[in-house]
Amino acid sequence: MENFNIYPKSVNLLEGAKVYMADAGDRDVLVCEGKPYFGGEEGKNVFELNHETANTLRSLFPFTAPVPVLNKDRSVGVGDRLGIAGPGHIRVFEKYDAMPVFAQQSIRELNLTGRTYEDVLDSASFYVFRENFTRGFGADGDHLKKPEDIEYALSLGFTMITLDLSDHIHADASGSYSQNVDDIYLGKTFDIEGNEIRFTKEELARVSGVYGDALDFAVKMYDMFLRDGKYQAEFEISIDETGTPTRPSEHYFVAGELTRRGVRFMTIAPRFIGEFQKGIDYIGDVNAFDGEMAVHAAIARHFGFKVSVHSGSDKFSVFPSVGARTNQKYHVKTAGTNWLEAMKIVAMHDPALYREIHAYALTAFEEATQYYHVTTNLNNIPNLETLSDAELPKLFQNDDARQLIHITYGLILSKTDEAGISKFRTRLYAFWRRHEEEYAQALESHIGRHLETLGCPRV
Ligand SMILES: [Zn+2]
Repeated sequence: MENFNIYPKSVNLLEGAKVYMADAGDRDVLVCEGKPYFGGEEGKNVFELNHETANTLRSLFPFTAPVPVLNKDRSVGVGDRLGIAGPGHIRVFEKYDAMPVFAQQSIRELNLTGRTYEDVLDSASFYVFRENFTRGFGADGDHLKKPEDIEYALSLGFTMITLDLSDHIHADASGSYSQNVDDIYLGKTFDIEGNEIRFTKEELARVSGVYGDALDFAVKMYDMFLRDGKYQAEFEISIDETGTPTRPSEHYFVAGELTRRGVRFMTIAPRFIGEFQKGIDYIGDVNAFDGEMAVHAAIARHFGFKVSVHSGSDKFSVFPSVGARTNQKYHVKTAGTNWLEAMKIVAMHDPALYREIHAYALTAFEEATQYYHVTTNLNNIPNLETLSDAELPKLFQNDDARQLIHITYGLILSKTDEAGISKFRTRLYAFWRRHEEEYAQALESHIGRHLETLGCPRV
C-alpha cells in the first residue's frame, strides 16, 4: 500500500491538507494528508474509490461534480460503459471546444454491464480529479423511460435527463392526445427558414395520433420532476428509437407542443433518414441526410433548442453535415465505439484472450440481437483460424466484426463458468489496467476524429 505512485496532476491543496490520487497497483486510491476531510484521523489517510469518497470529493472540489452542458453550443456524450475511458476522453476535451458528458448510461447499459449510476458518476468524478480536468462535465441519465429511473438519476445529481418516448409513440397513429390543437395547426403552413411545414386535416390527425400520448407523457414527467425546480436538470426529448425517420412536421409538432405546454427542454433527438447502426459509419445517402439535417436544424433554431444526434459512434460521413447545418450547435452521443476501442486494444496486445472472447461472441450474437437493431452478416467476418495474431486488430475495420463485438458487450462482461466465476470480466479489467496508456491514446485519436469531423473548433 505504501508503494504507490502519485498522479501528479491530481495534487490539490485544501486548507491544511493535500489531496491526491495514487496508483496502488491493482487499483487507484485517494489520499488525504493533513486534515481528515474524508474521515479518519489527523495525518495521512488512504481511501478506496467508493461512493462515499466520491461524494466528499464532489463537495470539496466542485469541478468534480457534474454541471449542465446542453446550454453550451457544443456538447458531446461519451458513454464510458466500462468506467475506464476517462483518461482518453479527458485528453480529447482538453483539445476541443465542446462540453463533455463523461457520465452517460441508459438503464439497458447499466443492466448489461452490471453497473450502477453511482458507479458511473463516481468514476467520472475520480478521473476528472485525477487528470485535473476543471472545465466541467455533464452526467446524463440516458434513454430513461420510467419515473423511478428518472428519480434515481436525479437524486444522485445527474445534470441531464434524456426522456425516451418510444413506448408512447404509436407509429400507426392509433394514440390520442389530451389537447385540442386545431386552432394552432389545422390548415396552417409554417415557414421555417424557407421550409414549409403544412398541417392538413389528415396530417394533423396523423401526427396527433402518433405523438399525442408521448407528449402527454413527456409533460407528466416534466411536471413530476422538473417543472417547479424540484430537481435542476437539463431535459432532452428522445424520439429516435422508432421504426421510421422523424418527418419535419412531426419534429415541429413535438417541439411546438412541448414549448406551448411550458416544458423547458434543451434538445430533441429525432430519428434521421438512413441507418444509424451501432458502432459503424452511416448507411444511406449522405446528400439526402444533409437535406434533412438542414430542416431539423432549422426547426431547432426556430424554437431555440439543439438537435441531438444519437448513435453517433463512428458516423464520420455525416458529421460534416451535422456540424455545418447546425452552425456548430449540437449535442452528439457516442457510447459503443469506446467499448470497441477497448476491445481493439485486447486484440492488439492479448490475441489469445481476444480469440477466446470472439469465439464466445459468435455463440452469443443471436441472444444479443434482442437488445440492439443491427443488420450484421456474420458470414462477412473472417474465420479467426485464418488470421495471424498480427491481423486480429484489422477485424475492427470490418463492420460486421465491429457489430458482433459491439452488441455482445453485456454478455461478454457477464459470462461466467460453471462455478459462477467471471469468464472474461476480471481478466479484461486487469488487462485494461495494464494497458491504460494504450487505451487512452486510442480514444484520444478515435474520439478526437469524431470532434474533428464535426468541425468542432479547438480550445
Ligand atoms: Zn437514442
